[in-house]
This record gives sequence, C-alpha cells and structure tokens, in this order.
Amino acid sequence: MQGAILVLSGPSGAGKSTIINHASSQIGEYYFSISTTTRQPRTGEEHGIDYYFVTHAEFEEGIKAGDFLEYATVHGNYYGTSLKPVNEALNLGKLVIFDIDVQGHRLVRAKMGEYVTSAFITPPTLRELEKRLYARATDDNSIIERRVKNAKEEIKAVSEFDFVIINDEIPKAANEFAIIANAARLKQSSQELEKFVNIWDN
Ligand code: ADP
Ligand code: 5GP
Repeated sequence: MQGAILVLSGPSGAGKSTIINHASSQIGEYYFSISTTTRQPRTGEEHGIDYYFVTHAEFEEGIKAGDFLEYATVHGNYYGTSLKPVNEALNLGKLVIFDIDVQGHRLVRAKMGEYVTSAFITPPTLRELEKRLYARATDDNSIIERRVKNAKEEIKAVSEFDFVIINDEIPKAANEFAIIANAARLKQSSQELEKFVNIWDN
C-alpha cells in the first residue's frame, strides 16, 4: 500500500465538513471515506454521498461479515468505516480522509498507525460549539444537548492527535487543514522506507 490516511475528528458541529469542503481545492486528489450509519438522514443528506444509511440489523450483518475497518457507537447510533474501498484507495496511492470520532481514531491508529496522520478540530469554546449546532438547525434540541454533552468527553482525547485545529475563522482553519493534509501525503510507511534504503544502497 502506498497511500496515506488522514483522520479528522472533533465534536459534532466543530466544522469538519465545512473545513474539508473549503480546503478541497488546496489538497489535490483525495478519497473521502463515506461511513455507514444507523442514524436517520438529515434533511438534504443523501444515501451514498453523505453516508450509507442502513438499519441496525444490516449494520450488525456487516460487523459479522468483517466489513468494517472500525466501528463505534456514537450518540446512540452505529457508525463504521468500510474496509474494502479504503484498501483500494490506499493501493492506488491516494490520500484517504476519514471524518470519524475519537474511538474510531484509536482503532484506526491501532490497526494502520504507520499510514495515519490525525487532526482534532474544535471551535474555540464549548459555548461557540453549542451556538453553531443551534444555528445549523439540523437536529432536535434533545439531540443537540446530547452532542454538547459528548463534546465535553471528546475534547479530553485531544492530546492523542498529531495536530489540533481551532476553527475560529473558516479560511484560517481550512488553510491549516490543507497544510496538514499535504504533509500527511508525505508520510512514508516503514515498508516504503525499507524499499528506498534497498534501492539507495544498490
Ligand atoms: P461537523 O461536520 O463537524 O459536524 P459542520 O461543518 O456541519 O460540522 O459545521 C457546523 C455548523 O457550524 C455549520 O452550520 C457550519 O456552517 C458552521 N460553521 C463551521 N465553521 C464555522 C466557523 N468558523 N464560524 C462560524 N460557523 C461555522
Ligand atoms: P454526525 O451524526 O454529526 O454526522 O456524526 C456524529 C459523529 O460520528 C461525528 O463525531 C463523526 O466524526 C462520527 N463518525 C462519522 N462516521 C464515523 C465512522 O465511520 N466511524 C466512527 N467511529 N465515527 C464516525
């Protein structure tokens, strides 16, 4: 495998989708890993674009079949990353971007650590996060409250990440994300380095 993995985590409403979209023209070709989830689609979300939306039973069949590189229960729903398309993209030498939670980051790092660069993204304060979730107006108040509560736990994992992006001004945060994504592409696996040393020495 020759590609690289960039894991982006952070509380729901931190601005992960916004930042990826803003930075996309600065980071060249990449493969965005579309997760599978049991949560209900929000207005405007499409199956196969935002997520693969499946039932609880379908998700559990996927677990049994070993389809997931990682999966976790987040805010009461299953979310998971399918292994096959990720491996295909890595074999083509692509940068693969994951938007997954802190549990997913731990699992991906444990399995594929040498390919992983990670960034945690957060608004400057919890109050600002809450404000953005209400302004986004995609979730009921009870769901927003649950997400804010979870954010207080998720922020505790911040030191596990290679980089932290404070999403205050979108252009600045998007620029930082682009720098990190371009550096992630340059990360070499030990296999690649070994090959290089062998060629270098001949
Ligand atoms: P996530 O993908 O992390 O759940 P979103 O990208 O959906 O978060 O962002 C949550 C909300 O906050 C959206 O309505 C988005 O337009 C808004 N937002 C994102 N970044 C900023 C920012 N820097 N300042 C103000 N609002 C922002
Ligand atoms: P949302 O419901 O707001 O789209 O996402 C909720 C949370 O689930 C976010 O923190 C997001 O990063 C995380 N998430 C999305 N897809 C996956 C996945 O495949 N695996 C894991 N572990 N978390 C995910």
